[in-house]
Parts: sequence; C-alpha cells; structure tokens
Amino acid sequence: MPAYKRILLKLSGEALMGDDAFGINRATIVRMVEEIAEVTRLGVEVAIVIGGGNIFRGVAGGSVGMDRATADYMGMLATVMNSLALADTMEKAGLVARVMSAIAIEQVVEPYVRPKALQYLEEGKVVVFAAGTGNPFFTTDTAAALRGAEIGAEIVLKATKVDGVYSADPNKDPSATRYTTISFDEAMAKNLQVMDATAFALCRDQKLPVKVFSIFKPGALRNVVLGGDEGTLVHV
Ligand code: UDP
Repeated sequence: MPAYKRILLKLSGEALMGDDAFGINRATIVRMVEEIAEVTRLGVEVAIVIGGGNIFRGVAGGSVGMDRATADYMGMLATVMNSLALADTMEKAGLVARVMSAIAIEQVVEPYVRPKALQYLEEGKVVVFAAGTGNPFFTTDTAAALRGAEIGAEIVLKATKVDGVYSADPNKDPSATRYTTISFDEAMAKNLQVMDATAFALCRDQKLPVKVFSIFKPGALRNVVLGGDEGTLVHV
C-alpha cells in the first residue's frame, strides 16, 4: 500500500544529464520515467516539477554578466524544454502526461490553471509543472513547494544526487551520517541544506513534509512512496 495518495516530485535538471556534461541523456530520462511509471501503477497521483540546470541557470555559466531577471527567464525556459522531454518520454512509456507552464507559451504548452491541474491528477494523468514559479529570483525548489501546497500534495519528494540529508557534507567528511528524519526547526538550527531558504520556509509554514532521496538509486522512488526507510524525511 502506498503511503501517499498525491505526491509532488521535484527533479533537478541535472538528473536528466546522466554521464553527459550538458542536456538530456536519453537512457537516463527513459530510466527515470520507468521509475515514475512504477509509482503511478501503485495508484499514486503524481505531479512533477523539473529544474533546468542541465541547460541553463540564472546564476551560473553562460549567465555571468547578464541581467539577472533575463537570465532567470532563460532558466525558466530551460525547465519548459525539460518538461516537454519528460512528458514526451512518459507518453511513449504509456503514461498520460500534461505539461502546464507558469509562463504563457500557449502554442507550446497549456498555461497552469490550478483547477485543471487538480482535474488531471484526479484522472490519473501525470502533471508536469513547467517554468518554475514564473518569476525570476526564485528556484524550481520553490516552485515545487508552491505547487505542492496548491495541489494539496501530502509530501514533496526531492530527488537529488545525495541519498538524504547528512550531518556534514559526505563528500568531504567521512564521519558524516544520514538523518532518517529531522524536523524543519532542527535542520534550520543545524544549518543543513535541504532546499533553498524560500522553498524551505514555504514547506515549513504549510506543514508540507519533504523527503530528500537519491534519484540515482534504482527503486528508491518506489520505496519512498511505499513508506520505506529511504533518504531523509524533513517534518514539522
Ligand atoms: N528559475 C526562476 N524562477 C523559478 C524557477 C527557476 O527564475 O521560479 C530559473 C533560475 O534561473 C534557475 C533556473 O530557472 O537557475 C533553473 O532552475 P533551477 O536552478 O531550480 O534548476 P535545477 O537546479 O533544479 O536543475
């Protein structure tokens, strides 16, 4: 039995790169979609927010020297590309997917309209929220928190490169240990990196728990949804 009825899955753009240095790796996105399909087969309603870091980030790389807001809009457009790739791959795998954009781009994808998103989810369609929050100076982590709260998701599942929240950076400190659960207050007091500050505050205020887990571990998403000991649960 799944532990949740409706989830908001946050994927970083980098999760689509696989071993490539940039862009979307075909085998990687196909594997990711297989994991998502498994979860939908459990009867869980799935909404997804995907980042754009594999293509463009407002604060790094090609954006250096650019106007921040312009660079951020480019980053949001990168998330639209990833969303289209993800939805296309899902459709090929037999899922029904809908992309909804926070920025008006109607010839490409439909706009985000909350009641419609809720309807799609109730119909068992996977909804991909593209273009982040639609505003510069935010991140897709914040979009995940925002949409998660809006659609009444029971949890935000933050898929990352690391398999949870650690007491220190596990790449630098071999004695670092993974938390199974930690409260928002404790994570803040210990200055642990869960999400960016805006996303973190929103989840905490809305009492929306966050599970941090590894996207690279096969079966981890399914295990999380089944309530298994996987990653770190950040709770109120
Ligand atoms: N972005 C933005 N507003 C949002 C979401 C994203 O301006 O609400 C821009 C921002 O420039 C960001 C980029 O889109 O760097 C890609 O998103 P993010 O860095 O969150 O992607 P990820 O790191 O998850 O791949």
